[in-house]
Amino acid sequence: MSENSKPSHASQFTFRNLNWINASFLTLAPLLVVISLPVHLYKYGFDWRLIALFLFYYMATGVSITAGYHRLFSHRSYDASKFIKILYLLFGAAALEGSVLKWCTDHRRHHKFVDTEDDPYTIKRGFFYAHIGWVYLKEDPKYAGVRAADLANDPLVRWQNDNYFAIAILVGFLLPTLIGFLIGSPWGGLIFGGFLRVVVTHHCTFFINSLCHMWGSQPYGDKTTARDNFVLAFLTYGEGYHNFHHRFEGDFRNGLRWYQWDPTKWWIQTLSAFSLARNLRKISESEILKARLVADETKLIQWGFYDDSLRELKKTIEESQKKIFQFKARYKELKSDITIQRDVKIQEIRYELEKARAEFNLALQQWRRLCRAYSEQVAIQAL
Ligand SMILES: [Zn+2]
Ligand SMILES: [Zn+2]
Repeated sequence: MSENSKPSHASQFTFRNLNWINASFLTLAPLLVVISLPVHLYKYGFDWRLIALFLFYYMATGVSITAGYHRLFSHRSYDASKFIKILYLLFGAAALEGSVLKWCTDHRRHHKFVDTEDDPYTIKRGFFYAHIGWVYLKEDPKYAGVRAADLANDPLVRWQNDNYFAIAILVGFLLPTLIGFLIGSPWGGLIFGGFLRVVVTHHCTFFINSLCHMWGSQPYGDKTTARDNFVLAFLTYGEGYHNFHHRFEGDFRNGLRWYQWDPTKWWIQTLSAFSLARNLRKISESEILKARLVADETKLIQWGFYDDSLRELKKTIEESQKKIFQFKARYKELKSDITIQRDVKIQEIRYELEKARAEFNLALQQWRRLCRAYSEQVAIQAL
């Protein structure tokens, strides 16, 4: 174990190092759910309105963490209206994962020092520590009280930080109890919309720090332990494409393609359609492809398969993608052209564009096929 990855004294599970408020809640809340849920179901039976309350609160608090705490406040990957920011601050507090100020400071440190002892939830200390163990402990004295300056200067963020416990109790427990009361079941409201929802949301978002650094593929490189995993994306509101996220943290998407499960991305796009979010930041297609090709290339070199034909293939992919962008730009220009030859020129560009697309798709397919074949060969040899 290197000096840098040695656990510091502050991250040891000793009596003195425990954060008793966090430790008590994280231990007692699941116990309370395990006892109260069957008792409630036995006594009052199944009520779909309580399930609806649970689902609403599960999405509202979970997305406030992923779209709010994470992609807005931590990474500034888009701008949101004041109204949406306030909703994130209220329902994010109700998720009981700390204030924006503390959460985002920790998260930025996670990105900056990922997989080292300065990463607050480093996976190098194992699943339990990264998932929940680190929350049981007091802040590392090295970073105690250190907070992100830009967030500390935001009056709304400061207000949430100063009133965190009051907001968390009010929105996280009293409001669902009140809704439960209005539908004739205050205890049901507290259990389904409060405790059960908190426990489920906790562990779903905690998976981002634990399993998303352990299980899945690494299409954008293995310099960090972050991984892409569809199953985890499903459980983490789309944050399971964590390898992409660690490579391009400023992108508002985690699931890059339209078909990749990323409800947080869809939520932000919906907000944008209603002018409640703007400046959605995206990394360019060429940069993303370049990162992917470099990651593949590194693996192929490591395995000893990288030769001139693969080098040529990579060049063809990059050049044909460049041509596609150039022809698309030219096509756009011609659309506003009013000269008589416009239609002929458009026909020509369309033909060139299709040719470049075909060349790009063919070369990329071939590249992927070869990468897959070589990786299978390496896996078989390792058996
Ligand atoms: Zn991570
Ligand atoms: Zn992040």
